[in-house]
Amino acid sequence: MSKKQDNCSFCGRVRKDTQLLIAGIDAYICNNCVEQANVILAEELSQKTSVGQAPDFKLLKPVEIKDFLDQYVIGQVEAKRTLAVAVYNHYKRINQPGTKDDVEIEKSNMILVGETGTGKTLLARTIARMLHVPFAIADATVLTEAGYVGEDVESILTRLLQAADYNVKAAERGIVFIDEIDKIARKSDNPSITRDVSGEGVQQAMLKLLEGTIVNVPPQGGRKHPEQKMIQVDTKNILFIAGGAFDGIERIIAARMRTNVVGYGSDKKLLIEKDQLLQYISPADLKKFGLIPEIVGRLPIITFLHPLTPETLKRILTDPKNALVKQFIKLLEMDGVKLTINDDVLDLVVQKSIEFKLGARGLRSILEAILTDDMFELPSNEEVKELVVTLEYAEEKFIKSGVSKLKVA
Ligand code: ADP
Repeated sequence: MSKKQDNCSFCGRVRKDTQLLIAGIDAYICNNCVEQANVILAEELSQKTSVGQAPDFKLLKPVEIKDFLDQYVIGQVEAKRTLAVAVYNHYKRINQPGTKDDVEIEKSNMILVGETGTGKTLLARTIARMLHVPFAIADATVLTEAGYVGEDVESILTRLLQAADYNVKAAERGIVFIDEIDKIARKSDNPSITRDVSGEGVQQAMLKLLEGTIVNVPPQGGRKHPEQKMIQVDTKNILFIAGGAFDGIERIIAARMRTNVVGYGSDKKLLIEKDQLLQYISPADLKKFGLIPEIVGRLPIITFLHPLTPETLKRILTDPKNALVKQFIKLLEMDGVKLTINDDVLDLVVQKSIEFKLGARGLRSILEAILTDDMFELPSNEEVKELVVTLEYAEEKFIKSGVSKLKVA
């Protein structure tokens, strides 16, 4: 077909019937055909990575998975070990050849229980990074039952699809982190007395995602409406990791243990420290807290995270591969400045973070507050080649910054 004709060499549309006609050496292609080719390309490429074929990642052994997590997440040994085994088994399950007499291995969705800011999201994100699989975070508090104001549970999968660049096959083996699952607990574990419809309804809606089914997902999110073309996503091999603080669950654990353990005086039970109790968390406690039994059943692996101690916070500043202090050193290095932060400054940062109840999230803002002036001025100052942050200097900068006036809620 000659270029002079000015029409698409693929579908034959003339220029005026297209929005855009792209010229090649001896041919044209219109916007419609480019879009169609794109769809074909996505489909073909996703076939190649389809479930059942060789994985596009080398599946590490649990010990190696934990080693990887150690590079980014400080402490939380129990959670890391449990997560490592769950992820290992999950991806082994996906990759098992589907012969009939195979023992069917159940999915290892899991639930992480621990205070906010202790690394639940970080763990899930780091695992996804390790595996090179799409990762999405969903906030359970914005989800509602279909028909109510808020987001349908399918929106969780929209986000996963977006993270996978709409490669359905890749999304189907991705990881979803559902944050604040405790906030959709019903208010009582006795459904006949108090029925908290919103919470329970969302849990019911979420069930079908967790158990593995084909879900019609609106590709752009938002409410489902008849005109929108849905993308079918099979959730069978998606790993769901739920997280929540479950405020007050220690009391439920303590109560259960006192009634269940025979032969010990109640005094002995009381010796268990509040933050030691979490290690005994069981499905029964989650039910009592207000998760419906079906949801608890679909999140069979439970683990917990410790509250962060000052020592852990300090290590978070310096130890992870992309630790905050390392980041600041690198940033200033790019401007030819060698940055040293004295050890007692790190203690100050930790202490302020605890004082303002900011947890690990506060470390960054406090360090930023101390270094902002320098980060502003040093790039324009050729003469300064080194910056040593002493405690005195840090205190002065911190007080000067507005952060020191932060009110604790
Ligand atoms: P959660 O999901 O438990 O509320 P996050 O994982 O979002 O908490 O943690 C908030 C931030 O605090 C993270 O981005 C990370 O910088 C830091 N952080 C929290 N816990 C840890 C940890 N154990 N190791 C390293 N960094 C942590």
